[in-house]
Amino acid sequence: MTTPTSASVPAPVTPRAVHRFLTEHDPPTPCLVVDIATVVDRYRGLAAAFPDTRVQYAVKANPEPAVLRALAREGAWFDVASPVEIDLCLDAGADGARLSYGNTVKKPADIAHAHSAGVAEYTCEADSDLDNIAAHAPGAQVSARLLTDAPASVTPFGRKFGCAPTQAARLLVRAAELGLDPVGVSVHVGSQQLDLTAWDPAVAAAAEVFAATAVRGLRLRRINVGGGLGTSYRDAAPTPADYARAIRAAVDHHFPTGAPELVVEPGRAVVAEAGVIRAEVVLVTRKAPDDEHRWVYLDIGRYNGLAETENEAIAYHLEPVPRDGDHSGARTDDANGPVIIAGPTCDGDDVLYLHTPYRLPESLRAGDRVDILATGAYTASYSSVAFNGIPPLPVHCINGHDIDGQSDEGGATRGD
Ligand SMILES: *Cc1c(COP(=O)(O)O)cnc(C)c1O
Repeated sequence: MTTPTSASVPAPVTPRAVHRFLTEHDPPTPCLVVDIATVVDRYRGLAAAFPDTRVQYAVKANPEPAVLRALAREGAWFDVASPVEIDLCLDAGADGARLSYGNTVKKPADIAHAHSAGVAEYTCEADSDLDNIAAHAPGAQVSARLLTDAPASVTPFGRKFGCAPTQAARLLVRAAELGLDPVGVSVHVGSQQLDLTAWDPAVAAAAEVFAATAVRGLRLRRINVGGGLGTSYRDAAPTPADYARAIRAAVDHHFPTGAPELVVEPGRAVVAEAGVIRAEVVLVTRKAPDDEHRWVYLDIGRYNGLAETENEAIAYHLEPVPRDGDHSGARTDDANGPVIIAGPTCDGDDVLYLHTPYRLPESLRAGDRVDILATGAYTASYSSVAFNGIPPLPVHCINGHDIDGQSDEGGATRGD
């Protein structure tokens, strides 16, 4: 039933509350259902796995107000990348002093907005941005983003962000001269990073910056080890405890005389498993009668929520939903056959899985529903405004089985 043939891990578990909501409400598809209780559960699990570490949620993974409200109530910090993300966090009840502006690409007006919101910390990698921070957020905490040669992650950042340790050291010394408070460095070893050794060279580079600035009289105090903590989709991801152990070992090794403050900045690991997308099969067809593969077109694709299927990077678990009255579940025990899975738009790139082997029941037909599991991260937040007239992915946030806004504030019902 779970479809990649080389699946090496069990399918992610759909939170019970999500299952109940989908059964009771049968919402129009496509839609994403997010269980807030599961978000809180994952956040608490991360906070427990990383003691004495600030856990800072990367808002871009899922900026739903109900998600942000629940995390603000938990006392989470937030990594924000734009004025709109700042305002979303403030509206959700977060204190500006618990926001960190992690985007190194920002305009002077963005910095001024952040400063007026009380944002605590700014990440930079270039002189002009540092000058803007000094001008528009005088006295603010500043960290420098390091470019590191991490082993490839599933969705790597490439060389877009960060600078060499020598440049980071120079920027931080300059930050002090500009009246700013240089606190340390930040790294990100790539999202869905399944290689636990990825953090060691990053922390080593951080130690280089600490040493290079110490000789110039600066005492840096903080390392932001970024996000990258994985979710088990098709391949098993390490657990939060595994990540914590590897990161702690790297810090202890490269800072033998005393560890700096640590910040971890997960996005995916907080929200992915809390969400399920329900989609509908729009068309099933063979391109020729004797083709082995059927093409299965869904009402969701690259542009309305499944952006991370680019290069087939993330192979989600697909689960056909039994048809009405089909309580035996016999359909999903049907013989499965190979399929190519595509989205609904008139764009040739809107093919989700051409090379990744997927199998779906031979009886699958238009109108059937399919659940796409562990899709709480980087789905709705990536969906386009209306490519081909298809609106952004609707999101239902639930807690227990109530729709957000009705009983979210109660927060007592656990979803799984
Ligand atoms: C996207 C992002 C994160 C979160 O990454 P995940 O891989 O989702 O954990 C953290 N920090 C920064 C600066 C980011 O851009």
